[in-house]
Amino acid sequence: MSTNANPEILVAGGGIGGLSAALAFALRGHRVRVLEKAAEFGEIDYGIQMGPNVYPMLERLGVIKALEPHAVFPDALVMADAITGNELTRISLGAAFRARYRYPYFVIHRRDLHGGILEACRSRDEITLEASKGLVRFEQRAGGVRVTCEDGSEYPGLALIGADGLWSPTRAAVLADGAPRLTGHVVYRGVVPTDDVIDRSYLNSMVIYVGRNMHLVQYRLRAGTVMNNVATIESDRFKRGDPSFGSPDELEEIFAQCAPSVRDMLRYVARERNWVLHDRDPVTNWTQGNVTLLGDAAHPTLQYLAQGACMAIEDAVVLAAEVARHGNDFNQAFLAYQRGRMNRTARVVLSARFFGHVCHAGGGARELRNSLLAQRSHDDPWEADWLYKGIEVPQ
Ligand SMILES: Cc1cc2nc3c(=O)[nH]c(=O)nc-3n(C[C@H](O)[C@H](O)[C@H](O)COP(=O)(O)OP(=O)(O)OC[C@H]3O[C@@H](n4cnc5c(N)ncnc54)[C@H](O)[C@@H]3O)c2cc1C
Repeated sequence: MSTNANPEILVAGGGIGGLSAALAFALRGHRVRVLEKAAEFGEIDYGIQMGPNVYPMLERLGVIKALEPHAVFPDALVMADAITGNELTRISLGAAFRARYRYPYFVIHRRDLHGGILEACRSRDEITLEASKGLVRFEQRAGGVRVTCEDGSEYPGLALIGADGLWSPTRAAVLADGAPRLTGHVVYRGVVPTDDVIDRSYLNSMVIYVGRNMHLVQYRLRAGTVMNNVATIESDRFKRGDPSFGSPDELEEIFAQCAPSVRDMLRYVARERNWVLHDRDPVTNWTQGNVTLLGDAAHPTLQYLAQGACMAIEDAVVLAAEVARHGNDFNQAFLAYQRGRMNRTARVVLSARFFGHVCHAGGGARELRNSLLAQRSHDDPWEADWLYKGIEVPQ
């Protein structure tokens, strides 16, 4: 346990966001303690996409060189119609993209990303990592906080960062705004050897096949040796109030509309586990005294822009910079941080919902989407400048 003579910043949650925050604070000379609920620090066994906006953040955290050997740099983001299998449009990720955004787009195994940040945290004396420490409550104290964990242990701290994810108990205490919004979007995932993949049309790209109430994403990981597959359905049964929504038979049912080559890709996703997706409407405050939120705890988003973790990493870098800029006045720094992050993260949440509609369009909406996409240029990233051009971080 820390003492007041040696004050620490407390971070609840050791996911990508929490560890990035710990590292960002340590790099600015703070002592940090990460309290993680799970018995081990870790991530799930699937891939994640990283937009060019997050690359300079990982550079600032000093981890990009360790991560790069694990990254795959696709040549394009391709959208194809799941019904016909035909390509609809693409964003080329080559020279023009890199010139425009200064940094590359990459994909990486989540365990390689999280593991790289974890290793960097382990190498810093300023950071203490504790597993099996689920936060249950905190109290604001003069000049700090006191956190209580599930096992009864207590930690005093200068401040608390709630990086405890979608079901954040820190958020529940700060905002008391109830459960996140259940969306009826359900995800099935699988990673298979690339050699087992039959349709090899887009082996060097990130491809998304889109159809009515469904999409399927594919990209390669780990030097191209394995293929990451993510099948998502927007459940019709959920809309009808059927509690069996999102089951493997509904997955098959919705994929029945697809071209045989796309339907066949369901063989690559496991049926034993699925993820039922949630998000939240953006809020205008996620700070209380010396406590603030970060990542999914603050602004959980659907995955349609592939930016939830990117936002968490941006949050972490900005948060530590604001604390430095405010001379360690945590409350003022946290208010400045949320002011700086609010609109950008709200735009991600709301744009992700919109892009989900675009992907999952059927009937006339599908016709409109396809005809508009047929008109766009491949070197014109789809109105993504606001996102991919990244952020200015306060010194
Ligand atoms: C299908 C899908 C695809 C996605 N693809 C992308 C993508 O391509 N690119 C991208 O940037 N984002 C993507 N995301 C979003 C991304 O996964 C999340 O936004 C990101 O992982 C959030 O990180 P976090 O650290 O905020 O939260 P989490 O990863 O949820 O971490 C929270 C941590 O807090 C711990 N915790 C929980 N409760 C407590 C407690 N009481 N006390 C202490 N610890 C606690 C948890 O065990 C966990 O370790 C995707 C999401 C989904 C669902």
